[in-house]
Amino acid sequence: MMYDAVMIGSGPAGLSAALYTSRANLKTLVIGKDRGALEKADRIENYFGMAEPISGCELVENTKTQARNLGVELAEDEIFHISWNGHFILEGKNGIYETLAVLLATGTGRKTLKIKGLKELEGRGVSYCAICDAFFYRDKEVAVLGNEAYAVHELSQLLPVVKSVTLLTNGQELKAEVPEGVHIIREPVISVDGAERVEGVTFADGSSLSAEGLFVALGSAGAMELAKKAGAFTEGQNIKVNERMETNVPGLYAAGDCIGGLLQISTAVGEGAQAAMSMIPFVRKQRKEV
Ligand SMILES: Cc1cc2nc3c(=O)[nH]c(=O)nc-3n(C[C@H](O)[C@H](O)[C@H](O)COP(=O)(O)OP(=O)(O)OC[C@H]3O[C@@H](n4cnc5c(N)ncnc54)[C@H](O)[C@@H]3O)c2cc1C
Repeated sequence: MMYDAVMIGSGPAGLSAALYTSRANLKTLVIGKDRGALEKADRIENYFGMAEPISGCELVENTKTQARNLGVELAEDEIFHISWNGHFILEGKNGIYETLAVLLATGTGRKTLKIKGLKELEGRGVSYCAICDAFFYRDKEVAVLGNEAYAVHELSQLLPVVKSVTLLTNGQELKAEVPEGVHIIREPVISVDGAERVEGVTFADGSSLSAEGLFVALGSAGAMELAKKAGAFTEGQNIKVNERMETNVPGLYAAGDCIGGLLQISTAVGEGAQAAMSMIPFVRKQRKEV
């Protein structure tokens, strides 16, 4: 099914944007994998209209009901990848979604690890996108760092192209089914090694693995990973947008905690609304051209 607008993230930014796009008659889907930052917020009392404090979960659930009542579709899924083929194609754990415009509203919380050499070798063997970079590692030995479904997704993209893939769970419990034949190392990683480029990794027990590429896929794909896969510019831990919430990729927008700033519900809601106001004319123009 083709959507006009898909919001990745069902927090304040994604849901707020959806209220506007749906009321502008855009076929709108909001995808979320959990309740985001607000899941941990017991008591909200600084948002507009709160006669009494409410919990973050209640606020999200109320807004989901409001969105559904306005015709927004909601899906529980975890998006792993974004690509473009005349329109956007979003690949999730439970399905594929096609849309003319996308809002990245995945909040903050990129999982970083303080592993020696990881940051230093980024772009020189350390990659955050298997589909983008697999080709550079054809017939080479690579490793994937992660222990959940997202890591297995990245691993599956690499398997047909590279010589071998080893999954490094970094001492964490493996929470996904791994294709047969994939070598798994559960020992914590203490360093990514290599002078100019990645040459291997060293583990806490003193053992090592030789690998020319290390694909980082910790937890689920966050804003930074999805932005990079879609070709959007980032700055530090934030996605780069202009005042209209447009990224450098036409049809791709970002709002909320993933663009930095105040990191509050009020700003996420405002930025979501602004993103929607930019998505609406973009989608209408696209529809005419299709
Ligand atoms: C403990 C705590 C208390 C807080 N208290 C307050 C407060 O009192 N007042 C206030 O104004 N702000 C408060 N905040 C901040 C506020 O929660 C955030 O600023 C706000 O939720 C940001 O909204 P967002 O939509 O950008 O991201 P989030 O609310 O974090 O939503 C992100 C969404 O993206 C989804 N997602 C992420 N990755 C994927 C993926 N790969 N695929 C699919 N979906 C994905 C998540 O499931 C979630 O739905 C608090 C935050 C915390 C952590």
